[in-house]
Amino acid sequence: AMKPNILILGAGYGGMVTAAKITKELGPNEANITLVSKHDYHYQTTWLHEPAAGTLDSDRTRMPVSQLIGGKKIDFVLGEVEQVHPEENKVSLSNGEQLDYDYVVVAVGAIPETFGVEGVFEHSFNQWTVNGARELKEHTEYMFAKYNNEPKDEYLTFVVAGAGFTGIEYLGELSVRVPELCKKYDVPLNKVKIYCVEAAPTALPGFDPELVEYAMNLLENRGVEFKIGTPISEVTENGVTLKGGEEINAETVIWATGVRGNPIIEKSGFENMRARVKVEKDLRAPGYENVFIIGDCSLIINEETERPYPPTAQIAMQQGETVVKNIKALIKGGELQEFKPDIKGTVASLGGKEAIGVVGDKKLFGTSAHFMKKMIDNRALWILGGAGLVLKKGKNPF
Ligand code: FAD
Repeated sequence: AMKPNILILGAGYGGMVTAAKITKELGPNEANITLVSKHDYHYQTTWLHEPAAGTLDSDRTRMPVSQLIGGKKIDFVLGEVEQVHPEENKVSLSNGEQLDYDYVVVAVGAIPETFGVEGVFEHSFNQWTVNGARELKEHTEYMFAKYNNEPKDEYLTFVVAGAGFTGIEYLGELSVRVPELCKKYDVPLNKVKIYCVEAAPTALPGFDPELVEYAMNLLENRGVEFKIGTPISEVTENGVTLKGGEEINAETVIWATGVRGNPIIEKSGFENMRARVKVEKDLRAPGYENVFIIGDCSLIINEETERPYPPTAQIAMQQGETVVKNIKALIKGGELQEFKPDIKGTVASLGGKEAIGVVGDKKLFGTSAHFMKKMIDNRALWILGGAGLVLKKGKNPF
């Protein structure tokens, strides 16, 4: 019989875990495995707030795909996926090439959600990618360099849209970085304004209120001004316009209000909610025997709350493991497994040695939460590349 082709789309958390584990389950005589991604490196999306603020070198967050799949029987295709054609078992790339599959794993991540607010893509920093982080970091430093030659307040005004995990984690890093930049560029600290504008009635909606208060107090003490329950109606060349008409003049607007799935999902015609596919329990797209969708492109329901789980790296990686087992079962026989997320906890960094989190039923803050966060970051490296990768790119938890 012909060997089946397995295509993995996206070299993020879901895709890389799938790639890392699949060769353990299927030998080179049992399947052809191909990983497609638009960069030749994997990056730790969950770390990007650090290089974006300039508190970590962006190279620390990325690693060559070749190194991660080195020695494994996986072909790598550097290319941008445009569309899956599930009726034809094909994937098309932006260079016109087509790839055939017997099984496909769609793990192409997310894009920013604008909630219909105009001007986001034109006038804000919104790309939580390595390239996006690099640009924001350089831009921020440039604003400080510019200010003393042309002292306009808007150069030193930063607006973070969204007080969810990404916004809060980014504010943590920015508020640590700003005093360093002030020193470097001879700018008085009190000239810098950092706003966090959030539409919901609270920061970190759904998170433990005591920890939310801890985070907000800490960030306020570092100079962050929160505008909670305040929707942004437009992002413009000059900054943001708030509902009610107030404007904040700022050269730097950072968009962190949440994500929707990759537009590939909509283009490919899968039934979706905000470009996320409500997958079957075995992680297949409804109606397709050979299409698995994982990570931020998938939507799974928390049966306790009857609401979707927020998309996380934690879930994406666990889904990768289940997909590997299920593809193996389809090829070699056996039962498909149901995916059940095992939520170990949630920890958000706040810059420096500060963090907040809930792990199991324990609340953590300060240095113990900071320690836990670094261990979580190191664990992801461990899963993808073992001890070698932890030594090379890992974080010091102390
Ligand atoms: P990703 O890991 O984003 O990977 C997608 C991959 O697909 C990338 O390699 C990308 O280059 C590639 N790709 C995209 N489009 C194409 C295309 N057209 N063709 C080919 N390849 C493509 N989650 C947590 O669990 N804990 C946290 O603490 C946490 N913190 C976060 C902090 C920040 C700043 C951000 C932005 C997110 C955070 N998240 C966190 C969420 C987490 O990063 C995502 O849920 C996770 O990355 C989803 O994994 P994924 O495999 O679906 O996509």
